[in-house]
Amino acid sequence: MHSYNKAFFEQLDRQDPLRRFRDEFVLSEDEIYLDGNSLGAQPKAALAKAQEVVAEQWGTDLIRSWNRHHWFQLPQRLGDKIARLIGADQDEVICTDGTGLNVYKAISAGLSLRPERRVILLEGSNFPTDNYMVQGLVAQLGHRHEIRFAEEDELLAAINEEVAVVCLTQVHYKTGRVLDMAAITRYAQERGCVVIWDLCHSAGALPVDLNGCHADMAIGCTYKYLNGGPGSPAFIFVAKRHQGAALQPLTGWWGHAAPFTFERDYRPAPGINQMLTGTQGIISMAVAEVGIDLMLEASMEQIREKSQALTQYFIELINSECAEYGFVLASPEDKERRGSQVALSHEHGYPIMQAVIDAGVIGDFRAPDILRFGFTPLYTRYVDVWNAVSRIKKVMARETWRSPVYNQRHAVT
Ligand SMILES: *Cc1c(COP(=O)(O)O)cnc(C)c1O
Repeated sequence: MHSYNKAFFEQLDRQDPLRRFRDEFVLSEDEIYLDGNSLGAQPKAALAKAQEVVAEQWGTDLIRSWNRHHWFQLPQRLGDKIARLIGADQDEVICTDGTGLNVYKAISAGLSLRPERRVILLEGSNFPTDNYMVQGLVAQLGHRHEIRFAEEDELLAAINEEVAVVCLTQVHYKTGRVLDMAAITRYAQERGCVVIWDLCHSAGALPVDLNGCHADMAIGCTYKYLNGGPGSPAFIFVAKRHQGAALQPLTGWWGHAAPFTFERDYRPAPGINQMLTGTQGIISMAVAEVGIDLMLEASMEQIREKSQALTQYFIELINSECAEYGFVLASPEDKERRGSQVALSHEHGYPIMQAVIDAGVIGDFRAPDILRFGFTPLYTRYVDVWNAVSRIKKVMARETWRSPVYNQRHAVT
């Protein structure tokens, strides 16, 4: 095995084709931020954008900003930009609402395409909100539908002619495992299912080719790898062939065919606009564009290559430097099957993560025992991997995590 040192990683940083991007972000010199998979770092330009939107557009131009600053078109404009990052065409993606709401809309629209079928297939270990939203929807529809849960190794066996909608997250939020989008989509469509992909941990983290995979619908957020800011709006993709037929039920005026005719009755917009409901959080959406624009400047192939290198080095260093401390890799060993994060399980995961955060390595904890480290190629350096592991090693060697302060649970882990 290669024996690495700090100079080796500093050399990789000097050769990194993405190295200029780090300077575009607000980051502390002493901290190593490995949680961009949960909340992306702040682009420096976000502050000026927020000031412009609040002070000038809202403060001075007021209602005129809907036209003058194109507030009304923001969902489409951002949607078209996000489309380029996920292999969709123009007018197939719209930026709006939260991820959970878009799950609700997408599943409802998917069911409307398969009225004769009754089963919704989900991955039980998925990030819970997707599954919770579907449970609420099924209750609202009078429990006429059945939810089936399957894990990765049971998925294909569970996909059959009874299933109306299959909704899966491509990159697992905990382990970072990547599902084969093309193969699963094809398999499910051959059995007549509608396939919806959750791209929360994919968009901006790896190349996604929705249309190349013939996906039906997709959803995702912008505050993780797209660096849109806390609670920035999510997005929804509906393939052109389904637009006008796959309808969502939150039929507010922004999804109307002609919102400003103020008709009494709802008429669905013929295109992707039907996925809108009402007035958007314009400040948040305007700021999100800054992160999305930055991502569009980078090559997704270079991002993927660096992401795989960062996670691979992290795993190798944990294996060589922290072998005796009981970490078990919970992410796929094969870099092709791994997203942009590394999950380690440990029976004392919670206090260890708190102590590691105090030591300046910001990751997070996911119950019951997962320490999660996200690697965001736009601003994570190779030397950060080296420094992070040496700090983790110190926490383990000195057993600082045993201190009672690290054992108190906070509301957000
Ligand atoms: C992050 C994430 C969400 C977030 O849901 P919100 O509605 O934005 O809070 C949903 N699904 C998955 C798979 C996620 O990773």
